[in-house]
Amino acid sequence: MGSDAYYTGCDYENYQPHFLDTCFLCHRTLSHNNDIFMYRGNTPFCSQECRQEQIEMDEASEKRFKLSSSKRSKSVRQISETDTKKAVRTGTVAVA
Ligand SMILES: [Zn+2]
Repeated sequence: MGSDAYYTGCDYENYQPHFLDTCFLCHRTLSHNNDIFMYRGNTPFCSQECRQEQIEMDEASEKRFKLSSSKRSKSVRQISETDTKKAVRTGTVAVA
């Protein structure tokens, strides 16, 4: 009787975040005996090669994202600016 009370709390000590246990790229299990290559603070890799590959993929996707997003935001901005000017102009004309 009462043995259930001793069980509480044990799970918290064994808990470890899963994202630190495997290589982000090849999902190989990372052991504490081997070097872990960190990238951007919290992304672990089993080797320099894996990390380098992820860095290159990130840079490639970032460049693509920046190019496409800057093009989009520019065109959107131009449209909204001309729309605003038109709206102001017609408003001014109507008042005058
Ligand atoms: Zn790896």
